[in-house]
Amino acid sequence: MDNTDEARLDEFMQGLERRNPNEHEFHQAVREVAADVIPFLDDHPEYREHQVLERLTEPDRIIAFRVCWEDDEGNVRVNRGYRVQNSNAIGPYKGGIRFHKEVTQSVLKFLAFEQTFKNSLTGLPMGGGKGGADFNPKGKSQREIMRFCQAFMHGLWRHIGPNTDVPAGDIGVGGREVSYMFGEYKRLTNEFTGSMTGKGLSFGGSVIRTESTGYGAVYFLKNMLERKGDSVDGKVVAISGSGNVAQYATEKCIELGAKVVTLSDSGGFIHVPDGITSEGLRFVMDLKNKRRGRISEFTEKFGGTYHEGERPWSVDCDVAIPSATQNEVNGEDAKSLVKHGCKSMIEAANMPCEPEAVDHFKEAGVMFAPSKAANAGGVAVSGLEMTQNSMRLSWSRDEVDEKLKVIMKSIHDKCVEYGQDGDDVDYLKGSNIAGFVKVADAVVAYGVL
Ligand code: NDP
Repeated sequence: MDNTDEARLDEFMQGLERRNPNEHEFHQAVREVAADVIPFLDDHPEYREHQVLERLTEPDRIIAFRVCWEDDEGNVRVNRGYRVQNSNAIGPYKGGIRFHKEVTQSVLKFLAFEQTFKNSLTGLPMGGGKGGADFNPKGKSQREIMRFCQAFMHGLWRHIGPNTDVPAGDIGVGGREVSYMFGEYKRLTNEFTGSMTGKGLSFGGSVIRTESTGYGAVYFLKNMLERKGDSVDGKVVAISGSGNVAQYATEKCIELGAKVVTLSDSGGFIHVPDGITSEGLRFVMDLKNKRRGRISEFTEKFGGTYHEGERPWSVDCDVAIPSATQNEVNGEDAKSLVKHGCKSMIEAANMPCEPEAVDHFKEAGVMFAPSKAANAGGVAVSGLEMTQNSMRLSWSRDEVDEKLKVIMKSIHDKCVEYGQDGDDVDYLKGSNIAGFVKVADAVVAYGVL
């Protein structure tokens, strides 16, 4: 980036920060994209003339609403729900719903912004959105979760629909929560339409949707390694999280011959130097999806060590796949990972690496797969679920898995096309520009609105 572009970036960010005070996650996500897009605009003045970046960083609309519900003791509880509809330039808004005590408007704006470019990269007609609530599902009974989901949908249903906005799951929202919300939407509208994805298989869900984000991230790793004449087989992999994305990234790594040596939750991480077995993974799935227990229980049954209050970035590994949450890898973690042999970083969570970590990986020559490319498999299969719902048919597991592989390869190749730098590829730049161009062309085509 030359001095003029640097000055343009600073000026752009100052304006954005003034208009969106205290929204640090949103600033971070925008800066990461703008740093690549602003120099690209030098050769594409039409995008600058049409203020495309300025328009895409101002969400189409933000809906905020009270969610009032009753707990098992009969107490009235109040939370805040949101839906950030960032851009529907290339299709209906699409993106998950997050239930977590740390959900804020800033977090959802960053996620909706990122989602716009991620959805564009899939090649499917989906705009970008994200929603959620500052509701903490931990320790809540099944009935309380159900009542919260129904109350949340009461606030949201007017703003979504199969041609308007199609939410899915995210942190704290899995198949159970999607089903409660979809059921309530169906009751309120008296229509059975594909208004959410991640549904149960007996009522419009797609096979492989549950697995797709984790599988897709490992397919992306496979593509990156194959480009270098290497393979996933035999690699030692450190994974964080133990939820949906972490579980299926682990499953696919094991299937392709890699050794997964860590998993974590918000309490700490487990280190299993011999690798987590398929039996161990089944235990984790039961523990996290049914019993809602802590990852520390793993070592009591399968050995290895538990490290309370720590993140898994201090172990020997070839590949790291953060799969928990944003900003879970800082600059020090990045140095530690490089020191322990890490050569590939796959962002399966959304924006898990802080800017200092990204810089360090770049300097150290680590292959870096940014989240908007690496975890796009989830929304890609959501897009395929929408297609199946519209056609009123269901594809087989092999058909969907094959389509997922093709989409992940195509995303990889677009990153190479826009990010090639000599023999190397800047996947971050490639994904930012490839994702931007398609949306930008649509924005320009619509004129001033
Ligand atoms: P889950 O709720 O299934 O799992 C989240 C995991 O991350 C849990 O192990 C949780 O631990 C841990 N975690 C959450 N917050 C923190 C925190 N602040 N510090 C440490 N650990 C934390 O979520 P998903 O697996 O669905 O999502 C994980 C990431 O992947 C998110 O960034 C999400 O946006 C992204 N993603 C998910 C997609 C999907 O299809 N599900 C699609 C694309 C991206 P604990 O159990 O203790 O809370």
